[in-house]
Amino acid sequence: MIDIDLNAPGKSAGYLHLHNSTNESAWQAIRLPVWCLNGTPGPTTLLLGGMHGDEYEGPVAISNLYHACDSAQIKGRIIAIPAMNLPAVMAGKRLSPVDGANLNRVFPGDPRGSLTSRMAWMLTNELIPLADNVIDLHSGGRSLRFHPCTLLHQVDDPRVMHRALTAAIAFGAPMTVILREDHADMMLDTVVEAAGKVMISSELGGSGVLTSETAALATKGLRRCLAALGHFEEEVAPSRSEVVTVAQTGAHVLAEESAIFEPLVALGQDVLQGQQIARAHLADRSDKRPQSVFAVSDGKVLCLAGQGMTHRGDVLCVIATSVAS
Ligand SMILES: [Zn+2]
Repeated sequence: MIDIDLNAPGKSAGYLHLHNSTNESAWQAIRLPVWCLNGTPGPTTLLLGGMHGDEYEGPVAISNLYHACDSAQIKGRIIAIPAMNLPAVMAGKRLSPVDGANLNRVFPGDPRGSLTSRMAWMLTNELIPLADNVIDLHSGGRSLRFHPCTLLHQVDDPRVMHRALTAAIAFGAPMTVILREDHADMMLDTVVEAAGKVMISSELGGSGVLTSETAALATKGLRRCLAALGHFEEEVAPSRSEVVTVAQTGAHVLAEESAIFEPLVALGQDVLQGQQIARAHLADRSDKRPQSVFAVSDGKVLCLAGQGMTHRGDVLCVIATSVAS
């Protein structure tokens, strides 16, 4: 239940209420902040941040947008939930501390499921149907660190693909990533794309921290992206975002051992297949030299491990390749 009228003109702020019955609080309501900006007739965009609780650029960019914006400037309607998985955001954790679930792996959700499943169900059935476009802002979280990028899936409808790609590029992140892989049907993206709507996501930083650079990019980029989707009259300056893709195989470098990760390359750097990109230091062994970590393909470094300590199977590096224009 949302306690504001999403059709009211101007700015509205309220809460989305979700029932949560626990040992400690039998009739508890989880109240997710919801903001709505309603201007002249136009498209509706649903803005989401905090789908994962340790990714902070999204909540900050949405907060900055809402508090800086006069609804008289806006064409159409923007519905924003800056901390979608509020229990996870308040805990600073990727997953919900209430039920241990990953909100972006339980779509389309379940009306009789756990709290996280019911959050997904509410989005699928109550808010996504209201929207023409969905922007879901992510960052790398604690365990990953990204060269800032917007991200979208390849969809079949060329008009939807064109609108999504144009707005994703307009964001102005250094990279725009088109994923060609079959995406999991547990994700928000699939629900939005199956409904024929524009879906744009992002990976704007990581390691569970904000920097001045990523916060500024998220705030300015969100405004540029919304302008490209028709919510603001302002001209969108040409973007130099590089369009790349991530291959299904040969793009991910995984940790072989539990070790301290010493990167030898920077985010966005060009690498060649076979190039040494990191050393893995075996902190619990006196008889082993650091192990060399090599690039598995040519390309640009899109993502590196977000923490110094890594464990077998963790992603150490993701390599993106340019999309020929
Ligand atoms: Zn995320």
